[in-house]
Parts: sequence; C-alpha cells; structure tokens
Amino acid sequence: MNEFGYVAYRRRLIEDIRAKGVEDLAILQLFDRVPRHLFIPEGTRHRAYEDAPIPIGYGQTASQPSLQALYLQVLDPQPSDKVLEVGTGSGFLTALLALSADRVYSVERVRELSMRARVALDGLALNNVALLVGDGSIGWRKYAPFQVIIVSAASPSVPPALAAQLAEGGRMVIPVGEREVQDLLLVRRIGGEIETESLRQRCTFVPLLGLHGWDELDPEPAI
Ligand code: SAM
Repeated sequence: MNEFGYVAYRRRLIEDIRAKGVEDLAILQLFDRVPRHLFIPEGTRHRAYEDAPIPIGYGQTASQPSLQALYLQVLDPQPSDKVLEVGTGSGFLTALLALSADRVYSVERVRELSMRARVALDGLALNNVALLVGDGSIGWRKYAPFQVIIVSAASPSVPPALAAQLAEGGRMVIPVGEREVQDLLLVRRIGGEIETESLRQRCTFVPLLGLHGWDELDPEPAI
C-alpha cells in the first residue's frame, strides 16, 4: 500500500480513539501527524491502524493507540517538558511525545528495536529524541528530573529510581501488579510527596525486565 492508501485507515483510527473518550483535538491531531505504519515492521504493517497492540518482534508489541492517547490526556506533556519513556518499542509513542514536549529520553532494552525506532524517528526529522539501549527501570539519571515519565512495561512495584527522577509537579504512568495482570497507575509528585491513583484495573502489559522489574524467565525469541 502506498502512503495515500493509509490515510483512510488513519482517519478511522482517530475516530476509534475519539469514540473511546479522548476528544482533545491536539491529541487527535498528533495521531494524524505521525504515520504509525512507518513504526511497524513489514510483516504486520497492514495492521498498523488497528486500535490494538501489534507484534513488533523480539516478543514485544507496539501498545494500543487509544491507550497511548489516554497517556497523553492524563500526562498532558507541555512544550517545555522533559519526558522519560521506558520501553521505546516501536518508537511510535516516542514520536507523539517528541511533537508534544521539549525533549524525549527513551530507554529500550532490545537493541534492535531501539535501532529501528531511530530510523523511523529520523525519517520524520524528529531530532529532539535521545535513545538509550539499557535497563530503563533505573531511569536515566543524567537528564533527571523529568516532568513526565511513561513506563510501557509492567513492573512489580513503582521503581524507586523512577519515583526519585520525577520532578516536582511531575506525572508518571506505569502498570504495576502481578506478572500476568496489572493496574495502570498515575503517580504524581506533589509538594515533595509521591501520590498514586489507579487509572485502569486488570490490564496486561509485557513485563519490565531489569533491576527494579522482573527477572527474565525465558530467552526472547529472536524474530
Ligand atoms: N510504547 C511502545 C510502543 O508502542 O511501541 C511500547 C513497547 S512494549 C509494550 C514495551 C517495551 O518495553 C518493549 O519493547 C520491551 O523490550 C521494553 N522493556 C521491557 N523492560 C525494559 C527495561 N527494563 N528497560 C527498557 N525497556 C524495557
């Protein structure tokens, strides 16, 4: 399919997102500005505009777009904000954030995914994104504090390093719970204190693997 062929699918996805409760025009426009298919590997590209998690290889998925829209609605990144993303994955959310904030610092443990995301981000000339291959459960201390932190993989608890790197007034979303099922939490630093509320219950995310996440049980399938 050529570039124009995707436009109708993109518009339908935006309608799906709106129908699921995100009506902020600025957020919906981001989904129009970033061609999601450029972040999805050839084999599953035809599914790029489904409102569903899409396999991207290495046992990982690109997150559901309406969930990413919810993140943007709740976190409300500002043009002056520094954002930390844990789990670059496809890089699609990284691109949405790059258009919303001052700078995005995104950490991914799978080198090949990070390299692929870099190509897609460069293709859109998004040059306010720094990518790192490593364990994002310890954050990225060099650039802290962050006004916004998004963790796209499920953790047994809120990693203390990430809470410590949240700026005053900062907002973080993170799925926390058991390995199979989690609650999506909104964590805020207000007056120096960390406050937590549940945004959505019984979600299932891929595990955050690392020092403050889960142990790796099985080797990742090398797709
Ligand atoms: N926002 C991404 C997207 O839409 O493509 C989400 C990708 S996926 C749901 C979560 C990602 O977190 C995976 O690519 C996985 O490799 C990564 N991940 C898991 N544990 C990690 C860790 N400790 N540090 C960095 N990335 C991690």
